[in-house]
Amino acid sequence: MKKLAFGLMRLPLAAPDDYANVDLEAFKRMADRFLAAGFTHFDTAYFYHGGQSEVALREAVVRRYSRSAFTITDKLPVHLVNETADVRRFFDEQLERCGVDYFDYYWLHAMSQRRYEACEQHNIFDFIARKKAEGRIRTLGFSFHDTAEVLNRILTEHPEFEYVQLQINYLDWENPDIQSRLCYETAIRHNRKIMIMEPIKGGSLARLPAAAERIFRDLDPTASMASWALRFCASLPGVKYVLSGMSTYKQLEENIETLGDNFQLLSTEEREAVNEVARIVRESVFIPCTACNYCLDNCPQSIGIPHYFRLYNELQAGTRPSEAIKADYAKLTRTYGRPDDCLACKFCERSCPQHIGIVKHLEEVAAAFAE
Ligand code: SF4
Ligand code: SF4
Repeated sequence: MKKLAFGLMRLPLAAPDDYANVDLEAFKRMADRFLAAGFTHFDTAYFYHGGQSEVALREAVVRRYSRSAFTITDKLPVHLVNETADVRRFFDEQLERCGVDYFDYYWLHAMSQRRYEACEQHNIFDFIARKKAEGRIRTLGFSFHDTAEVLNRILTEHPEFEYVQLQINYLDWENPDIQSRLCYETAIRHNRKIMIMEPIKGGSLARLPAAAERIFRDLDPTASMASWALRFCASLPGVKYVLSGMSTYKQLEENIETLGDNFQLLSTEEREAVNEVARIVRESVFIPCTACNYCLDNCPQSIGIPHYFRLYNELQAGTRPSEAIKADYAKLTRTYGRPDDCLACKFCERSCPQHIGIVKHLEEVAAAFAE
């Protein structure tokens, strides 16, 4: 079973930093290569790329391949549901945007205690059960960002969910805020299948501090840093797919090499090396943003939160000359609100699956770039 799935939240862009402007021709080439290599699964959501992820999937895959050649996960934007009628509207719109008449997998997006209550309030569980009975959904599940205790409650009360999509990577495995290991063990205990998101933590595990990189290089000088993160996830029992949000053809080729026919389970020695690397990285990560962009839609000041966090982390790690990073920062401030425009309303923090103290970190960013 080939476990690599194509996550469609970080597609190639036609213009840098224009998140809703997908480079469709580049994505078509990547989708063609992905399918030709024997992989089949694509993962999208209502608001990825400002709605253009679903459209890109339709144009690059659905209209160009037979429906039996691929499978799709799409997700209901639970946080955008204000009244019960919204649920049907979103679902119908998603089918149309994707150009399909059924979803292989349909998830409630980013479930948490709060969103679970919203699902009950708007009869969402009944709605998706009806859609499954009508054949519009083949398999039900949800993606999840909360504690193992909340996960246990949902899985206990809703046996109809066959799958859960969890944030798992070696850095978050023992992270008390994310609880990757505890959530994984909870899903296994409930006998549910697992899809993994953020295996490379938004790309941050593709470039490691020198001491951590040395550990992996000593074991295998040719393996990319990202390949270790993918193998960690794909080696876990009970995992159906490991999603990777690929932005370039090169990333795709590397991932095919790692999770294709030559895939190797992590050995005990390699697993120990991964634990040691996780320890080193934990001590050196400055702001653990995965660039998921969930916070962007909610900011009344249009502050480019993940873009500023990426530059701040680069500045702290010294991965590029500081003049170049500061020049990029100046460019960003012409497109987005500035970090010091923040009103501290915390709308963004409520939608951040990483539970990042965004307001506090924006103050640090503003101070660092004011120097
Ligand atoms: S707290 Fe600041 S960054 Fe967050 S949504 Fe409000 S203004 Fe935007
Ligand atoms: S700050 Fe949080 S919500 Fe915003 S992009 Fe980063 S991880 Fe995602």
